[in-house]
Amino acid sequence: MKKRVKELLDAFRCPTCQSFLYVIPNRGQVEGLRCDCGTININLKKRPK
Ligand SMILES: [Zn+2]
Repeated sequence: MKKRVKELLDAFRCPTCQSFLYVIPNRGQVEGLRCDCGTININLKKRPK
């Protein structure tokens, strides 16, 4: 089980800076995922059209 968790986490690592992605903001409703270097910056917030 531990190994599977690690594989899952590896999928959420940035290939550029090797850091794990983290959720922003730290509190409240999730707005996105990003890494330390900013290469990965996924916006999970629904934008108005
Ligand atoms: Zn990065």
